Amino acid sequence: MEHGRSKKIYEEAKKYIPGGVNSPVRAFKSVGLDPVFIESGKGSRVLDADGNSYIDFVCSWGPLILGHSPEYIYDGIEEIIRKGTSFGLPTETEVKMARLICEALPGMDMVRMVNSGTEATMSALRLARAYTGRDKIIKFEGCYHGHCDSLLVKAGSGALTLGVPTTPGVPQDVIKDTIVCRYNDTSSVEAAFSENAGGIAAVIVEPVAGNMGVVPPREGFLESLREITKRHGAILIFDEVITGFRLSYGSAQGLFKVEPDITCLGKIIGGGLPVGAYGGKREIMSMVSPLGSVYQAGTLSGNPLAMHMGMKTLEYLRDNPQVYGSIEDNAVRLEAGLNAIIDELSIDACVTRAKGMVCLFLGKGPMESHDDVIRCDTARYASYFREMLERGVIIPPAQFEGWFLSYAHTREDIEYAIKASRESLEIAFAD
Ligand code: PMP
Repeated sequence: MEHGRSKKIYEEAKKYIPGGVNSPVRAFKSVGLDPVFIESGKGSRVLDADGNSYIDFVCSWGPLILGHSPEYIYDGIEEIIRKGTSFGLPTETEVKMARLICEALPGMDMVRMVNSGTEATMSALRLARAYTGRDKIIKFEGCYHGHCDSLLVKAGSGALTLGVPTTPGVPQDVIKDTIVCRYNDTSSVEAAFSENAGGIAAVIVEPVAGNMGVVPPREGFLESLREITKRHGAILIFDEVITGFRLSYGSAQGLFKVEPDITCLGKIIGGGLPVGAYGGKREIMSMVSPLGSVYQAGTLSGNPLAMHMGMKTLEYLRDNPQVYGSIEDNAVRLEAGLNAIIDELSIDACVTRAKGMVCLFLGKGPMESHDDVIRCDTARYASYFREMLERGVIIPPAQFEGWFLSYAHTREDIEYAIKASRESLEIAFAD
């Protein structure tokens, strides 16, 4: 496969952009390649600058649950753009969007739109601290909640992949209030609460961890977090930036029937544009400015174009519930296909899955926490990635990320990805 034009763009990019990319994992550093630069996307496929076509399982890291450039979402978009893309004054689309989200999520009475998942979690923490009058927060090792200072402690995603889970530049003073517990380990949370009696404002968790690969919650884990936080007067924050509108239309909270106090959203709700949101119980959200005194603002928050795209996406998901069944069917097929290869090749690998979220770990399972996933063979994963790319399939360029399936992926795409995996894994495990 030729990548001459991508390489040329990359050389130019490195002159002006740190590492040539605007988000670290895009540089393909951990898989030992130069990045491919994307020209366009349609359905389940992307086309790179050299004209190579790939089946895409990155799907913008989650937003594109309906695939690339769906006509039914884009329909009428020109008219929306011509009306103006930002006013800094309220529009009715924001209200429609807020209503859609509140009607979908059991734990959401009111919601505030922001521009990214990072903004959502950062604002949610501020609110939880203001509401409880406490400073400490609990996060879980391997969970990623964006690049807000106090949450960049033992973080997953690119931070984990690039070996900087706790980044320089974050003052000790800021992270002294961040307590890190073990995912799926209720006793570590109980212990943190007893050691910090009356001091913990909130527990923030990815209800299905999607930033250390995919690690589903153990039976009862989320329920325990709900019970413990309630007992200690702390806020339970579900970071549903990935799981929101992906696991089900009611998101993880609807699926697991555990209601958080505050929910963070991003990705899917923007329909491919930069959108995040945080919201929750009316009593808590009433503290947000200008209704209350907790300040949080945004020049482009709720901008009409982004709201339109998000609204169209959510309406489609609401009105076409078969989307979830179809994605899950493909996820189950992918899981079965990969498991068959693992058996046939007798390799140390395992597949995790939660509804439509899937991950192939190149290490022995079970995968229930950060300690488990970091034992995976990232060098073999890099080789697997490279072989897949060569065969026209883009999987996440890092072991500690899940595959993103969309409604646009066909059964043939899945069958092809399984076949390509069979060949690629055989090569990756050749020695
Ligand atoms: N929370 C979770 C669970 C995420 O997966 C991410 C991004 N991958 C974020 C927060 C941060 O979102 P953003 O990149 O939009 O700032």
